[in-house]
Amino acid sequence: MNINVLSLFPDILRGFFQSSIMARAVAKGLVSYQLTDIRDYATDKHHKCDDEPFGGGAGMLMKPEPVFGAMEAAGADSARVVYLSPGGRLFNQAYARDLASEENLILLCGRYEGMDQRVIDRWVDDEISIGDYVLSSGEVAAMVLVDAVYRLIPGVITGESLEEESFQDGLLEYPQYTRPALYDRMKVPDVLVSGHHANINQWRFRKRLEKTLVYRPDLLQGKGLEGELRALVHELTEQGE
Ligand code: SAM
Repeated sequence: MNINVLSLFPDILRGFFQSSIMARAVAKGLVSYQLTDIRDYATDKHHKCDDEPFGGGAGMLMKPEPVFGAMEAAGADSARVVYLSPGGRLFNQAYARDLASEENLILLCGRYEGMDQRVIDRWVDDEISIGDYVLSSGEVAAMVLVDAVYRLIPGVITGESLEEESFQDGLLEYPQYTRPALYDRMKVPDVLVSGHHANINQWRFRKRLEKTLVYRPDLLQGKGLEGELRALVHELTEQGE
């Protein structure tokens, strides 16, 4: 996958692409990337990229010309273009999986009060929000999105690590423990040191359900739960009341 991030502050992203698992994915040729400074495409002598909104209102907007120039240079017509925006559709794991199969991904980061709408109308395929809050700019949101997406590209991390993660099948992950088995008078649950794999799996599944019911009951709604699963949800819900 090639990822091109269009931003007024590309340095915010540089360390992310040069570190840890991402750096290895780049070295292995699984990911390539460019960081495009939108200001390089400003046409006036002051490299101005913002201006006041028509109709009045607080703050400034990103001007269309530099972003159009950056999009053209990036070959955006043959890429999937995502604009990070608090006004967009909420980002989730299903959308991350969808993006993970793209060959060319362009992420557009806003700043100030946002973007001239003509940029969005002309270039953007999806407007995506990482949550119901407002950040000062899109770079951190772009990193969140890239981080969730690139780790799903085959070969970046082991497939096994992805299998039982939160959201993979609509449930949150079970609690996990490592050594020491007794710490600060808190003991690891007996079942996990029993070596009995069927019991461990059963315990983990139950914990996943419990956690999902407590923190994210919305994930279970409309799932058409059947048989044993429905009975377990019923039992856990009764216990919680
Ligand atoms: N005036 C905009 C509004 O009320 O919707 C907020 C603009 S925000 C200060 C500036 C930029 O930060 C946005 O253009 C977007 O790129 C980014 N941003 C802020 N919050 C975000 C979020 N929750 N998800 C994705 N991007 C966000």
